[in-house]
Parts: sequence; structure tokens; C-alpha cells
Amino acid sequence: MNLLRSLFISLSSNYGLRSFAESSSVGRKLSSRFVAGMTIEDALQAAARVNREGIAATLDSLGESVNDAEHAQASADIYHQLIDQIAARGLNANVSVKLTQVGMDLDPELAESIVSGMVSHAERSGSFVRIDMEGSPYTEATIAMTERLHARWPGCVGTVLQAYLRRTAADARRLVGQGIRIRLCKGAYKEPAEIAFPEKKDVDQNYCELMLYLATSGVFCGMATHDEVIVGRMRRFVEETRLEKSKFEFQMLYGVRRDLQRKLAKDGYGVRVYIPFGPEWYPYFMRRLAERPANVLFLVKNFLKN
Ligand SMILES: Cc1cc2nc3c(=O)[nH]c(=O)nc-3n(C[C@H](O)[C@H](O)[C@H](O)COP(=O)(O)OP(=O)(O)OC[C@H]3O[C@@H](n4cnc5c(N)ncnc54)[C@H](O)[C@@H]3O)c2cc1C
Repeated sequence: MNLLRSLFISLSSNYGLRSFAESSSVGRKLSSRFVAGMTIEDALQAAARVNREGIAATLDSLGESVNDAEHAQASADIYHQLIDQIAARGLNANVSVKLTQVGMDLDPELAESIVSGMVSHAERSGSFVRIDMEGSPYTEATIAMTERLHARWPGCVGTVLQAYLRRTAADARRLVGQGIRIRLCKGAYKEPAEIAFPEKKDVDQNYCELMLYLATSGVFCGMATHDEVIVGRMRRFVEETRLEKSKFEFQMLYGVRRDLQRKLAKDGYGVRVYIPFGPEWYPYFMRRLAERPANVLFLVKNFLKN
């Protein structure tokens, strides 16, 4: 399984395969299980659909590793349209963005000024910007930028911590101390054992400890996982300690464990679905296959059926 995971993660940065897949209609059809569509309108409609089921959304315009200023600004324009449309349509939604998508590799100051524009727009619209976490070369820079943005627009920006990283418990305390909202996930990139737990059981244990810490920290955090054992652990904790369900939310990915998303919402838990969209879907899609290689069979079966 680990071999397949590594294979999909390395294929996720293969440029040849990426441009072939993104331009082919078969590729787009396969990706539609995890990607809401190619346009802003597709994403907004998907958000409205999940809202009707009592589920909130966070919208992600797919794209990463942008290396020219024009492209970075074009990515930002999409986010500004999203923030306006979320407000205009009264959606229960916010946005998630990756720093490499707004020029982090090219010029970190450019990326910060673009994200500043997004966060100040979100503040005016009563919304929120989540800065997704990428591979470990970006961890410290992402956290530090979130801190600076939070100092200027408190409560309008947050980031993501990954339970597979050994540094995360310290980062959680650091961000909670400033009142910064965290999305906790396991982590989707390939990291060396010096900085990340190589064994899944250690990642899961760290996730649980961090989750309970965040849930009782007084800062509203998102528990991003589809792991039923971990979700069950959180539910038991809520029942045993009578923690108010409004103190945190669960977060899951579009197209993954829809049954669990609906069940949690029905049981009165806050649930937010991460809705990715746009033509640059390939690296995101490959990371989803890496998490669960059985998805390949599932997708092929569905493809042949339709
Ligand atoms: C809302 C959200 C935002 C995220 N943001 C980030 C981020 O900013 N940075 C980052 O590094 N990672 C991010 N991730 C990805 C995360 O790090 C994990 O890679 C991913 O969530 C899989 O871990 P898991 O907790 O679901 O548990 P796992 O242990 O991987 O899986 C547990 C169970 O969940 C189900 N499952 C998990 N993944 C899939 C899938 N793709 N298809 C079908 N079933 C599946 C399976 O039943 C599996 O047995 C995010 C995840 C979510 C839900």
C-alpha cells in the first residue's frame, strides 16, 4: 500500500501526465468524483447543494506552484469573485487557498500582498480565508504569514496543521495562544522520517491528542478527517465531557464519505465540505488516489458503468 501511495504522490508532480490528463475529456470525467467542476459557477452551485443539507463549504480554486506574477494575480481574481458571490448568494461558505498558487515560490512578498488583499476583502464581506498547508518547506513560512495576517485582520484568517509532522504540537500551542483558527489534518505530502512520523498509528495517535487539545482550547477549530475511528473518538469525547458541539466542526473533502458527512450534520455536528474546482485538478486528484488507492478501481468501475 505504501508503494502505491508513493507512486501516486510522485505521479502528482509529473508534468507530462498532468498536461495530458487535464486536457483530456476522460481525465475530467474521472476527476469529477472529487472535483466539483471547472468553473466558479460549478463550485458555487456545489456549495449551495451541500448548504441545503445543513453542511457548510470551503471553496478551493485548484492550482499550485504558480511561477509568474500574472498567473498568481489571475488566481487571486478568482478568489475575489468567490468572496463576492458567497456574500451575494448568502452561502454558508468561505475559501481555502494555497500559497504556491499566489506566487510563494516566485516572491513571498508578492504572495503575502495577494493574500492580504483576500483577507481584507473577506473581512469586509464577513468571510474567512483558510491558508492550506503544503509540503514541509512551506510550513514555517505559512504559519508566520498567517500570524501576521491575523494580527491585522483578527478572526478572518487561519491555517492548517498536519498531525504527521513532529513539530505540530508546538505549532498548535503557538497558534492557539494567539487565537488563530486551525484546521487539523493528517497531512498529504511525502515527508522524511526526521520530521514526520513514518507509522500511520503514530500519526493517528498524534491526531487524536491534538484534536482533543484543540476542541477544548476555546478557539474554533476544524477537525479534517474521514477516519471513522477518530470521528467516533471525538463524538465520545463530546458525550462524556458535554462539550458543546458548536465549539468545533468536522471537515471532509467533496466526494469522500458523503454518508458520514450527512450523518454528522443530522446529529447536530458542524460539518464543512472542502470543494475544489477548476481546470488544474491533476495534483489534487492524484493526492486523493494516494490516500486510498482502492479509489482507482472504484473510479474505473463507475466510468465503465456510465
Ligand atoms: C477538509 C480537508 C482539508 C484538508 N487540507 C489539507 C491541507 O491543507 N494540507 C494537507 O497536507 N492535507 C490536507 N488534507 C488531506 C489530509 O491531510 C489527508 O491526506 C486526508 O484527509 C486523508 O486522511 P484521513 O484523515 O481522511 O484519514 P486516512 O487514515 O487517510 O483515511 C481514513 C479513512 O477515510 C476514508 N478516506 C480517506 N481518504 C479517502 C479518499 N481520498 N477517498 C475515499 N475515502 C477516503 C477511508 O475510508 C479511509 O480508510 C485535508 C483533508 C480534509 C478532509
